[in-house]
Amino acid sequence: MLGENLKRKYALTDKGLSNARKGAFWTVIVNLIAMFGAGILYKLMNGFIKTLTDGAALPSPWLFIGLTAAFALLSYITHLEQYRTTYGLVYTEIKKTRISLAERLRKLPLGYFGKRDLADLTETLMGDVNRLEHVWSHCIGYLYGAYISTAIIAIALFIIDWRMALACLWGVPVAFLLLFGSRSIAKRHSEKAKHTAVTVSDCIQAGIENVREIRSLNREKAYLDEIGTKIDRHEKTLIGGELAAGLFVNAASVIMRLGVATTILTGASLILSGRIDFMLLFMFLLIITRIYAPFDQSLALIAEMLMSQVSANRLNEIHEMRTAEGADSFAPSGHDIVFENVDFAYDDKKVLRGVSFTAKEGEITALVGPSGSGKSTCARLAARLWDVTGGSIKVGGVDIKTVEPEALLTDYSMVFQDVMLFDDTVMENIRLGRRGASDEDVLAAARAANCDGFVNALPHGYQTPIGENGARLSGGERQRISIARALLKDAPIVLLDEATASLDVENESEVQGALSRLLRGKTVLVIAHRMRTVEAADRIIVLKDGRVAEEGTPLELRNKENGLFARMAELQSASASWKV
Ligand code: ADP
Repeated sequence: MLGENLKRKYALTDKGLSNARKGAFWTVIVNLIAMFGAGILYKLMNGFIKTLTDGAALPSPWLFIGLTAAFALLSYITHLEQYRTTYGLVYTEIKKTRISLAERLRKLPLGYFGKRDLADLTETLMGDVNRLEHVWSHCIGYLYGAYISTAIIAIALFIIDWRMALACLWGVPVAFLLLFGSRSIAKRHSEKAKHTAVTVSDCIQAGIENVREIRSLNREKAYLDEIGTKIDRHEKTLIGGELAAGLFVNAASVIMRLGVATTILTGASLILSGRIDFMLLFMFLLIITRIYAPFDQSLALIAEMLMSQVSANRLNEIHEMRTAEGADSFAPSGHDIVFENVDFAYDDKKVLRGVSFTAKEGEITALVGPSGSGKSTCARLAARLWDVTGGSIKVGGVDIKTVEPEALLTDYSMVFQDVMLFDDTVMENIRLGRRGASDEDVLAAARAANCDGFVNALPHGYQTPIGENGARLSGGERQRISIARALLKDAPIVLLDEATASLDVENESEVQGALSRLLRGKTVLVIAHRMRTVEAADRIIVLKDGRVAEEGTPLELRNKENGLFARMAELQSASASWKV
């Protein structure tokens, strides 16, 4: 139970928890052995006092040399073990955590990455794990070890003399009450600091992405001012957090030290009233410094441990997200896509309600409807970028929920509006369509997608690097690269979203040619925005408010009296662009 709690609190793996236990065990041993050192000193002092007061013979120096040597040896061995268990083992733990996090991210529904702020995600992968690494190596073992060893020593001290033990130890619980009382303050500061850090990186990211607009609109100064304000705010939050934590930690440390004064006062009055002898006071004074040492070390860490819990929560959140899992292989019979009574909600927002339709193999199925009616959502669900909340989607008779997204997507080509391009050459960006495709195949696909013209105008043709996310290309060019990729992949299912929306008129017919080559014989689900695409479709699904409002061939729907599609088509027939 306690173990589970610790695991959650510090986002530890099972192995990490067992290492933390070992670390705490060796810390207890190290702290107890330090007491053994105090014992030797006590014995030595006692011998001297006896010589001075009773004229007894001096104790043999060999005894002390032997004891000290034994102490040094034990101390060395136990410190080594403590080091190995607290620092040494933590590196395997970090490796495990990063790998399991990466595995987890790989299995999360792909739609998650569109929803979550990327700066925030990077902060979790890098920053949070680093912060936890420090806590794992420097804090957990030490702190819990210090709790246990102090409890053992406290019991021993109470058995020896409860009055002196009380005078010596009262500060410890008071200090801890103070620290735990300050927990909510530390947590609040830590959450705030995380938030301000993300705002700063968001602002920097946005500035880099929009550098052209910022320059052309002369907004440099405004942008720099904005980023300056955000950095200031972050700095203030950090300083505030440090100050609050520092204040409590120092107060706790001072309170604990007051124990030395109360021990001397109590000891002196007990000696004067003849209830204890001087040597007992001396022993308590020796021990008290030893008791504080591990605490001093861990007090400084407590603020960090409290702060780290925000990081641990974020890691736990990723570990607890529902993943998209399933079989590694996908063997459908045919490639009809069947939506059966599909419901879907983004978080709490219900977007699709009881949607049923079939997109047949070898046909083009067009999704039309007003903006926000759920067309893109249907396309995303068909590729399992998200999982449906109700009903099912089957491809060739196989429920796609039972297939691992990676395996499923080998049968899909997607030509979406937001094309993802990598900072590599044009050639390699197209080759992503099919790993291992030959240069000839890549070039043929590029030609078919009408990329030749603009690529040859680039300084190094197909070998030109295109900048991060294709910064050097226009919208239409990026889309043609995406079509080339899809042509190269030649997957049996094609999902198309406004595939030709940003193409200039001149190239449009050629790209249409490429597209029709891409689409031939496939199962095509297209989010149509143009009358021509709609008219060319075999089947039309009209969506309205997340429901199927009408369904049929273009001719059927056109002739339907008072039909939604018929009305929209009439309104739009004069216009080349399909907008509703
Ligand atoms: P369409 O493609 O027909 O314009 P969408 O499928 O994009 O419609 O959107 C349907 C509804 O879902 C809209 O109300 C939209 O605001 C909402 N929506 C779309 N994507 C998300 C998302 N990632 N998170 C939350 N809501 C979303």
